Amino acid sequence: MRFSYTRRDFLKLVGLGTASIAMSQTLFAAGSVRNRPNILFIMSDDHASHALSCYGSRINTTPNLDRLAQEGMRFNNCFCTNSICAPSRATILTGKYSHLNGVINNRIRFDGSQPTFPRLLQRADYETAMIGKWHLKSDPTGFDHWNILPGQGAYHHPVLIEMGKRKKHTGYVTDIITDLSIQWLQQRKGDKPFLLMCQHKAPHRNWQPDDKHRAMYEGVDIPEPETFNDDYATRSAAAREQKMTIEHHLTPKDVKMRWPADLKGQALKKWKYQRYIKDYLRCIASVDDNVGRLLDYLDVSGLAENTLVVYTSDQGFYLGDHGWFDKRFMYEESLRMPLLVRYPGIVQPGSTNEDIVLNLDFAETFLDYAGISPPADMQGRSFRSLLEGDPPEDWRTSMYYHYYEFPGSHAVKRHYGVRTRRYKLIHFYNDIDAWEFYDLKADPNELNNLYGHPQYADRIVEHKMELERLQKRYGDTKPESLTSD
Ligand code: CA
Repeated sequence: MRFSYTRRDFLKLVGLGTASIAMSQTLFAAGSVRNRPNILFIMSDDHASHALSCYGSRINTTPNLDRLAQEGMRFNNCFCTNSICAPSRATILTGKYSHLNGVINNRIRFDGSQPTFPRLLQRADYETAMIGKWHLKSDPTGFDHWNILPGQGAYHHPVLIEMGKRKKHTGYVTDIITDLSIQWLQQRKGDKPFLLMCQHKAPHRNWQPDDKHRAMYEGVDIPEPETFNDDYATRSAAAREQKMTIEHHLTPKDVKMRWPADLKGQALKKWKYQRYIKDYLRCIASVDDNVGRLLDYLDVSGLAENTLVVYTSDQGFYLGDHGWFDKRFMYEESLRMPLLVRYPGIVQPGSTNEDIVLNLDFAETFLDYAGISPPADMQGRSFRSLLEGDPPEDWRTSMYYHYYEFPGSHAVKRHYGVRTRRYKLIHFYNDIDAWEFYDLKADPNELNNLYGHPQYADRIVEHKMELERLQKRYGDTKPESLTSD
């Protein structure tokens, strides 16, 4: 059977324990079973997992991303450690928390001289490329080829910077990033395994669709989420004092027109939601099409077999949930990242995983597959064993989160917290000192803050201890001390 023969099975077959990694790498490198995989890392920007049909979306379908899920593994509990664009990207590259890689918020320039997984892959003789949205202010390092959008980039007729040289392109950004990715795959030297990071701008604000999808959802009402009219009744002031509501903070630029003057209150909120969510989903439809184009190219070029394909987004997003757009909060919708991984012959098609994995783990997972020992100060853990259907008994059961960008856009207050399989504890700080605690099993929408509830007193103490343990473990021992810039 094609998929029964995993690397782990092979090790068992030849009588090697899991301790014999170095030897197995040699065997694999020698080509006795298979070569080091190519890695195609596709990342979009702000694509919430509840806007992929393979994650049960109620509002759209994503057939090409679903194909990836059907042919690989879908992770149901992948989380980011700081739910905002540049910090998530810096964590993915370095395998380190924000306070150590330096990018605690979107305003900071990434120090590209630090070790990153692309630099390590390049050093280990991978051919490496970064195409699309980079968003880290400094030039990419560790890539044989790079062609990036400046800053946020434009949806239509974007300028890209190719190895330092600016060039204006004609067309739609998601198509162009895919075209350039395919061109690079065609033109690369081809005698080494490759890493290609194909990073889309879409579906980032302000959600400008292409002509092909402009009329999609016309005359259709997209369902509103269950928590659309959340009143934040039991929550701390942090939930009430943000500036990311559909009703008050979506601008005419976001919804592409001035709203009718007679629309007010709930009617205006509903109208804005439809304008917003349709454009958001139209942008995703183009991402989905273009993921399909890349998968097709892997098929026709014969690359599919030995390429590990990843689809993810830098963080989640509020799709009207809690009355919001944007991200930042540690609540589920923005904490959660979609993560689909396909690797034919190694990852069981159509499989799912419920373990807690983090953007912090990506670097070490890719290094693991490339046979490279990770630097000792990387803070994640390779989830290769999860991908290969053999999760270790000591896999993490909790994760640490820390968000810093306050004061800042959308006025989401600074906070850190811990999420376990069932509970979540959050501490908002800076100009506020407020705690929230949720039972995610009883209250998956996080509407009922249980902090201070006597029935949960023991659980809350346990989670405070776990929070402290994780802060020590990751070296975030003075979590309230970092300045904004
Ligand atoms: Ca983002």
